[in-house]
Amino acid sequence: MDIHALFSRIANIYIVVNENGVVIVDAGFGNAAPIIIKKIRELRRAPSDVRLIFLTHAHMDHVGGAAELRRLTGAPIALHRADIAKARAGKHNLPSGRGSTGKALEHTFNGLHLKFRYEAFEPDLFFDEGDTLREFGLNARVLRTPGHTLGSLTLALPERALLVGDAIINQFRVAMPLYGEDIALAFDSVRKIAELQPRILYSGHGKPFSGAALARYTQAKKLSLAAE
Ligand SMILES: [Zn+2]
Ligand SMILES: [Zn+2]
Repeated sequence: MDIHALFSRIANIYIVVNENGVVIVDAGFGNAAPIIIKKIRELRRAPSDVRLIFLTHAHMDHVGGAAELRRLTGAPIALHRADIAKARAGKHNLPSGRGSTGKALEHTFNGLHLKFRYEAFEPDLFFDEGDTLREFGLNARVLRTPGHTLGSLTLALPERALLVGDAIINQFRVAMPLYGEDIALAFDSVRKIAELQPRILYSGHGKPFSGAALARYTQAKKLSLAAE
């Protein structure tokens, strides 16, 4: 099994390839589908080898290309039910800001009246805690890691490799994103991820990072939680 990362402007797309086929984890912005197809061909696979489009959550930078990718591959789209309203509407609000920086950005963005829009889609499948991807040819298990969005999912691959979406990111350093629908739940999810003692984490933003880097973050957070 190989995990190939693809950058769609600021967000990552992962192409997981094994002898059974291809699973795409997240679909980038609205322009990403042709870039994903090009990468699949570079990996000497065909669009029809894609067996599943797994979405970690329904934010524009992760699902913008999903509808077109489904048309190009014929593969089903999977999401958690709690994010379905965003997918059906093809838009979402900016989640609440976290900490003083997040609050300041939230205020700025709301003042700009930015719209977070993408091509709406109806998911084909809904995944939840404990589901496996066996029928899609991949030895992987689904974990619920809500908070950033209420439907945020993590995919656990063999050898303690986790694809965590935006549950924890590595944009400038390893940290929780500045936005979340439920910040307390998001902290619980980071704890849950840390307790799995991952070897490597593949995030929606930034380069992959080690379980040790995550542990440093959770330890630091425990000390500073009261100051949040
Ligand atoms: Zn997000
Ligand atoms: Zn994101």
